[in-house]
Amino acid sequence: MESKLYQVSTQKPPKLYTPQKLTKEQIIQKLESDPTKTNTDWGNEWGVSRERVRQFRRDFGLLSRREFNSELFQKALECIENGYGQITTHTFKDIDNFGIKKLNNWIKDNPELQEQVDNAKKNAYQRTHFPKNKKCSKCNVTKPIDSFYNSKSGRDKKMLMCIECDKNIVKKYYDQRDNDVLVEYKTCAILKELGPLPAHFFHKSRRTSTGLQYTCIAYGKAYSKYRNRYRDIMNQPDSPTKDLELRMLGDWKQAAYNEAKNEVQKDLQAEVEAQKIFG
Ligand SMILES: [Zn+2]
Repeated sequence: MESKLYQVSTQKPPKLYTPQKLTKEQIIQKLESDPTKTNTDWGNEWGVSRERVRQFRRDFGLLSRREFNSELFQKALECIENGYGQITTHTFKDIDNFGIKKLNNWIKDNPELQEQVDNAKKNAYQRTHFPKNKKCSKCNVTKPIDSFYNSKSGRDKKMLMCIECDKNIVKKYYDQRDNDVLVEYKTCAILKELGPLPAHFFHKSRRTSTGLQYTCIAYGKAYSKYRNRYRDIMNQPDSPTKDLELRMLGDWKQAAYNEAKNEVQKDLQAEVEAQKIFG
């Protein structure tokens, strides 16, 4: 008993770290006894700041309460840099078991991380809103940002397609519009029995694959003429005259057909004659 007391009294007194005189060993033991307890709570209990508790963990070789992992943190910074300048719920979707909450806890424990996060955000914003270069959505070539027209939408307020590709598309459109007749002959959808007719027997159309309307000019004219006649009669009040006129008109669609067929046959004949004379 005596010898033990003697031994104790000759030992150098241990260093005390808190107002409540906790030793290094006591602090380590307490921190390890409750891994979920926050630095703030320990600090309140011991009468020291949260930052002081963090220093204890660091200096005594204990993992931070939130297990800071610098490799994971670098990955997180990369994700932020690849974003648009904001941290959203999608920013860390490629990192397992990591999210905004963990990042914020790390920052709370290590306030110096905030600057790195802010820098990553700034870089992402700069890259997406004021890029020096941009990849064209059409030719896939990365070009200086001046190679794109301005746009009202998009983060960088520039068109997706480069000016060169934009001009090519406009040119193609006009070329196609000017050369829209793609066939020399075409069969009229109504006067089928006459077979293929010369392209100039048709009006142009931008809606068909041939660049010509489905029915020939002669049929269109005859159809309109007879249909108008039919409408004029139908617009009259009911009377014996109206009935008579309707009966005289008869099957007006057939009449239009016959008239158009005659016209086209005459025109075809005239073409044959012309060829005989002019070769
Ligand atoms: Zn392009």
